[in-house]
Amino acid sequence: MARIYIETFGCQMNEADSQEVAFSAAAAGYDIAADPALADVLVLNTCTVRDNAERRAYGRMNHFKLIKDADPGVRLVVMGCLAEQDRERMQRLAPHVDAVFGTKQISELGETLSAWRADFSEGEQPYSNERALLAPFGGQPDGVTDAFSHLRAFVSVQRGCSYYCTFCIVPYVRGRFDHRPIQAILADVREKIQAGAREVMLVGQTVNAWRDPASGLDFGDLCRAVGALDGLERLSFISPHPKDFTESMFAEMAEIAQLNPRIHLPLQSGSDAMLRRMNRKYTRAQFSEKVEMIRRYLPGWAITTDLIVGFPAESDDDFRQTLEYVSTGVFANAFAFIYSPRRGTPAANWEQVPRSVASRRFTQLWDAQNAVTRAYHDRKIGTVERCLVSGPSKKDSSKLAAKTLDNVTVIVPIPSGLTNEALAQMPWVDVRIESAGVWGCTGTMLRRAGAYAEIGEAVARPVLDLTIA
Ligand code: SF4
Repeated sequence: MARIYIETFGCQMNEADSQEVAFSAAAAGYDIAADPALADVLVLNTCTVRDNAERRAYGRMNHFKLIKDADPGVRLVVMGCLAEQDRERMQRLAPHVDAVFGTKQISELGETLSAWRADFSEGEQPYSNERALLAPFGGQPDGVTDAFSHLRAFVSVQRGCSYYCTFCIVPYVRGRFDHRPIQAILADVREKIQAGAREVMLVGQTVNAWRDPASGLDFGDLCRAVGALDGLERLSFISPHPKDFTESMFAEMAEIAQLNPRIHLPLQSGSDAMLRRMNRKYTRAQFSEKVEMIRRYLPGWAITTDLIVGFPAESDDDFRQTLEYVSTGVFANAFAFIYSPRRGTPAANWEQVPRSVASRRFTQLWDAQNAVTRAYHDRKIGTVERCLVSGPSKKDSSKLAAKTLDNVTVIVPIPSGLTNEALAQMPWVDVRIESAGVWGCTGTMLRRAGAYAEIGEAVARPVLDLTIA
């Protein structure tokens, strides 16, 4: 049996691409391996958005060389943004890589996997539609697919980005906007629902800039069309650009019952001077207007964000403005990063903020946002939330990790006797939230349901046998 192992770094676009590769591999007769040492083909889906991701990818290529040294028949494939950017350098630094596929060559990778398939089998493996559908195609970031992977599916709505933020490599490695037709997107969503997805996440580098190439329909229209599909339980999307949200889009979203109540709205900086240098195409006041619209049309929705600290020329005053904005408590959570220069982008050539200054600012911002996030999570204590299971907790396999609709991690003990398969079959759990931290919440499972809209059944409480003591 031929086996393929897929390891994914980076954003949800990469996760969506990995799902697509897993799907074509399953259709070509491969099994998905959870362990690279057991695979015939190793696929590394790379990211280059930060220096750290790039170094980790080369580290993994070196690690995979050991597997290839032990069995020269194993093939190593590198795909994703680093593959696009570093083709020639990679040949020098990692000559053991067998094939490199850029971000626009996913279907060619599928064809190559089909062509290689016969090299790994004793007999011909017939194409199995059923196997393709049942394949655990929701790749986890660490490359492991499991009984829960199919519950959340990614569907990409566009490739590339035309905005050229001065810190970002995406337009150079993924190209300009290339929006997929609405019918192709709807067909993919239907396929994922059929394969058991309970939540479908629409992904794009600037997902809300999507336009149907033929009709000009916008992202609000797309959400409405996806929401009308039979069997769709929950819908989410990532990552939008503040500039592309319109009032009518928010009004439309308020009408779509399946949308999860969370919007990721990347601010990047609270200083207009920095936003201009970043080429973000909005001012802080315009950003605040979008926040007000969310409050008006989508009351109660969580807003999360991305923040960059130490962007070239960021002064103490620029940073203070970001810190002040975050301290107002507008964001339920934030992904904050110290600016990391990316080769080939304008900002990489500008004078850099000293690392010690950037680190000090980062710590201040981190503390401020953590206090807000903690307060947001604290407000959940005593409530009961319906959550979608993600799988066993990575730190303690006797516990289950799940996500609230606003994407907060919740950890609960697994009632005895419940297998992973049983949990995946009834993946909606009602959790009474009992404690909170910055990372998420803990609680107790009260009910389980097979569908989001079902009342579900109560979870049996463990019976204490006092006679044993
Ligand atoms: S909007 Fe800016 S940060 Fe986002 S993908 Fe496009 S260029 Fe990169």
